[in-house]
Amino acid sequence: MFKGIGVSHGIAIGKVCLVDRSSICAVKYKIEKSRIDDEVRRFIDAVEDSKSQIKEIRKRVSKDLGSKYVYILDTYIMILEDEMLINETVKGIKEECVNADWALKVSLDSFTRLFDGVEDEYLRGRKVDIQQVGNQIMRNLTGYPQESLSDMDESVVIVAHDIAPSDTVQMTSKKVLGFVTDMGGKTSHTGIMASGLGIPAVVGLKDITTKVKTGDSIAVDGDDGTVVLNPTKKDLQHFLKKQQRYKYYEEKLGEIKDLPAETKDGCRIKLMANIEYSNEICSALNYGAEGIGLYRTEYLYLNRRELPSEEDHFLDYKKIVEGVHPKSVVIRTLDIGGDKFDFHLTPIKEANPALGLRGIRFCLTHVNIFKTQLRGILRASHYGNLQIMYPMISGIEEIREANHILKEVKDDLRQEGIPFDKDIEIGILIETPSAVMVADILAREVNFFSIGTNDLIQYALATDRVNERVAYLYQPLHPSILRMIEMVTSAAHKEGIRVGICGEMGGDPFNILILLGLGEIRELSMNPRSIPEIKKMIRLITLEDVRGIVDTTMSLISVDEINEFARKEIEKLSSA
Ligand code: PEP
Ligand code: MG
Repeated sequence: MFKGIGVSHGIAIGKVCLVDRSSICAVKYKIEKSRIDDEVRRFIDAVEDSKSQIKEIRKRVSKDLGSKYVYILDTYIMILEDEMLINETVKGIKEECVNADWALKVSLDSFTRLFDGVEDEYLRGRKVDIQQVGNQIMRNLTGYPQESLSDMDESVVIVAHDIAPSDTVQMTSKKVLGFVTDMGGKTSHTGIMASGLGIPAVVGLKDITTKVKTGDSIAVDGDDGTVVLNPTKKDLQHFLKKQQRYKYYEEKLGEIKDLPAETKDGCRIKLMANIEYSNEICSALNYGAEGIGLYRTEYLYLNRRELPSEEDHFLDYKKIVEGVHPKSVVIRTLDIGGDKFDFHLTPIKEANPALGLRGIRFCLTHVNIFKTQLRGILRASHYGNLQIMYPMISGIEEIREANHILKEVKDDLRQEGIPFDKDIEIGILIETPSAVMVADILAREVNFFSIGTNDLIQYALATDRVNERVAYLYQPLHPSILRMIEMVTSAAHKEGIRVGICGEMGGDPFNILILLGLGEIRELSMNPRSIPEIKKMIRLITLEDVRGIVDTTMSLISVDEINEFARKEIEKLSSA
């Protein structure tokens, strides 16, 4: 039995598909002149195979997610059709009398070197596309084609060293029953995506890829992070029973979908949804979301060849705001960076990406990209209740600078006679310890705060949210985090602005008793699937209960004591 970190609810039982994302090394050897034609043929066949594999993936991804996520695959096809790459490799085979793998490696190296000195970020991003396509041809040449995650013949549980958030777009087919990875932490974006898609997942298993082979049976529990290889009959019974219980529980939760999230003594809590794609709004509303509290717009930028245009932004946001009308939508401006890296937007590898040019920092240094998004948001604001939220704010300067750019965009729209909501509300994510410490100052500049506990915990406890080796330190109920949340809420209340939580912490029923009593948080935004369960908890408690619980919690000095206390209180509540 393996123990990792459960990041997406549910049980998956199936066959392993071991996915290898590593590069293949080419080995050089000389060939006889008489074999040159065969070697060229072998290379051309590998190119053709790569092309049909990518076209097939393109077809599936476009069917599942719509055309806008397939740009990257179009780029790959264009590279595969590029005569220079083909001709150079064929020339290498013929002139040097070397194997196709080596000739391909040499021509790829010389191509990618051309991009090294290029200033333009987009062109530099092409280098990675070429490397990925080169790897695909190389895999076909060597007989190890790269599996596409949308490409499964049968239903499987994917096992991989790591899965990028951008890989998860390929997991929309019903064929991926679940996935497990060596790497990753509780709030890695890959996990958040899996949860959004309803795929059970366990990450941070360290070396599971070295322990399994394709075809092994596997059972995965995305709740408690347990993974069992080649489960016995008894194991299977246990997992199947849990799966059934889970299904029953989900059905039961569905029954309270239309009931208010209200404590027994009548306090209403607003439960909203975090989404990553605009086509999630239907399911978010079905889970009972009272609005969209966080739209992570990064996925509009990932996996495409060109930047989204103003029109792309506008249409996407308009679809959401009209789809949830009259409920509100918070659009977070681009938060690229950290574990959501994108080769095209941020091709420079940073030593500490979580502390690098991410979130608002990226937008303030790429003003045109920022302005395009802001124009799209403002135009869509004419069609409903839209709000803007800036990520990764660390001080007042960033808010002022962002607002200054926003003002310029508003002025332009006004001059062009384009309608928008002139009173659009502006909020910030409180996710850096610095923002917590100056929350009283920041509260005077904005209309609302949303506490991004995923990052706040990472930065406050100095523990990488995607690093399984320090996952034990990633403790939402750590006294320092609770004090920070209290500081932020009291600063917000003093200035009379709204404050909510949009990190995963707010969607975990384990934390809810404490959060509601902590500085009177009345807005939570979470993964839509967590809404019914959180609502169920809220309907079981009174504000008086939670205030008492928080008083005791805040007097405890260690996270272990707090966790133990919270566990006992929840047990009491469930058995009442
Ligand atoms: C957070 O940091 O808590 C948050 C909501 O944003 P993300 O998980 O996208 O970084
Ligand atoms: Mg964040």
